[in-house]
Amino acid sequence: MYEMVIIGAGPAGISMAAEARGVGIPAEKIVVLEKGDAHSWAIRKFYPASKPVLANYKGIKAVCTGVMCLTDMTKEETLTYIDRVIEQCQLSVHYKEAVTGIRPLAGGGFTVETSGGAYQTARCVIAIGILDKPNKPEYKIPPALARRVHYDITTEAIRDEDCLVVGGGDTASEYCQFLVQQNNRVTLSYRRQEFARLNPVNLESLLALETRAQVRILRGSNLSALEDEEGRPRAVFQEAGYAAETFDRVVYALGGTTPLNFLKAVGIKFEGEIPVLTEGYETSLPGLYLIGDLSAGKKGGSINLAFNMAAEAMRAISTCPLPSRP
Ligand SMILES: Cc1cc2nc3c(=O)[nH]c(=O)nc-3n(C[C@H](O)[C@H](O)[C@H](O)COP(=O)(O)OP(=O)(O)OC[C@H]3O[C@@H](n4cnc5c(N)ncnc54)[C@H](O)[C@@H]3O)c2cc1C
Repeated sequence: MYEMVIIGAGPAGISMAAEARGVGIPAEKIVVLEKGDAHSWAIRKFYPASKPVLANYKGIKAVCTGVMCLTDMTKEETLTYIDRVIEQCQLSVHYKEAVTGIRPLAGGGFTVETSGGAYQTARCVIAIGILDKPNKPEYKIPPALARRVHYDITTEAIRDEDCLVVGGGDTASEYCQFLVQQNNRVTLSYRRQEFARLNPVNLESLLALETRAQVRILRGSNLSALEDEEGRPRAVFQEAGYAAETFDRVVYALGGTTPLNFLKAVGIKFEGEIPVLTEGYETSLPGLYLIGDLSAGKKGGSINLAFNMAAEAMRAISTCPLPSRP
């Protein structure tokens, strides 16, 4: 029987384990289960190699309240920082172990089922983020274009090509910056006229690229279809003012989705599409917590927010003994 099983080894999951070690829970009583073959899968997959990792992301002020804290770093430094925490806190992280279900036990606690087996635990913390399934457009992508349509820019090297980035958030801006560095010709399609969601660094960088004619921005543009033009994606726009255009690559940066089916199958209460959470991000099932991007709401999360949520959950756990279920 574990004291705490944590699902997901991203910033939220690792900081949760570090917080638990900080209040004296023995290392062998905590396990982190990660479906990827390394921690921080989302950071590795979605962050461009040269990206500066910002402590104040999306205007969320970086006031650290727990044992982990991000300052402005590179992607590599961020991963190394998390490596060091895993090592120093002697955290047990089981990689390549995807959690498939969580079952509450009659007398309290949970069975956590994974691709590799099952774990029994008094408390369970879900920290699986929202990027496992990136949002996709509503129109159908012709199968022949699959190799030229992307939802991240680390899986394949993209150089010296005509690229269309679709989106208008920080990720879209960062993808444009990275693709320009890789000598691509970059066009950004954004459905609105103004970039209201970008943090100041990404806004300034994007507008500077536009001024230098390194990124062409199609403001107020909406794609209605991607067509197959001899194996290359042809973007068709709803707006008459934007003629259809053919690119070598299309990269979507449309954010991620809360894994609602997974959460609902566990049996926690929802209000509409939002899980009901009490103090310390505890769900309606005592002893089951949701932290990180999963609980960040519409504005989206950040690494320091994930760290702080872990600290808050641990404070609530430390001050409140687990009630047993009837
Ligand atoms: C392109 C981009 C740039 C960003 N830049 C910044 C920045 O500069 N600064 C900043 O503070 N924030 C940034 N963010 C946001 C930040 O990355 C997230 O807020 C943070 O990663 C959330 O951490 P998390 O642990 O909640 O989720 P994640 O980082 O998504 O981690 C979830 C982990 O759970 C694992 N997992 C998922 N499903 C399962 C399962 N069923 N079983 C087991 N494991 C599972 C995943 O493999 C993953 O390792 C950026 C995000 C993106 C997409």
